[in-house]
Amino acid sequence: MTTLDSIKKFISKNNWLLAKSMPDTPHWYVLRNPTNSIEFDLFANYIHANGVLRKWGSYGYIYLDIDSFTYWTMNNSEGEKSLINRAELKTTNEAATNQVFKKCPNCKRLTAESEYKKFTKTTNGVTRTFWRCPVCESFKQAAKKGLLKK
Ligand SMILES: [Zn+2]
Repeated sequence: MTTLDSIKKFISKNNWLLAKSMPDTPHWYVLRNPTNSIEFDLFANYIHANGVLRKWGSYGYIYLDIDSFTYWTMNNSEGEKSLINRAELKTTNEAATNQVFKKCPNCKRLTAESEYKKFTKTTNGVTRTFWRCPVCESFKQAAKKGLLKK
């Protein structure tokens, strides 16, 4: 069994408790205890050896992503790793990477698809769909206003 296999076993057999202290940033934790200490330490050391430093509020933690969760450790007052936290990855990270980007036909900027303004135009009985990126849209609106002033 590889280290990662034993870690995944540890993840699935433990009962992850919801941290009620921070309802805005839901995460779960497992405390180190005499029965899980060997696997706990293996996992905690693995996080530190393979994780990446990310900022979380004003603190930096070493995070390791496994499947759909990210894991990080917390120390007790003696500086020992005493709990492992986990949070679902989908919240901000995944939402950003899953977004579909589209190139604007006009200015060639890449913009998230959801930010485009769609509109239709009917010429000679044929309706066609167009879309405009937020930048082109603001230029268009500014031009319109400019025309109205004249
Ligand atoms: Zn554009």
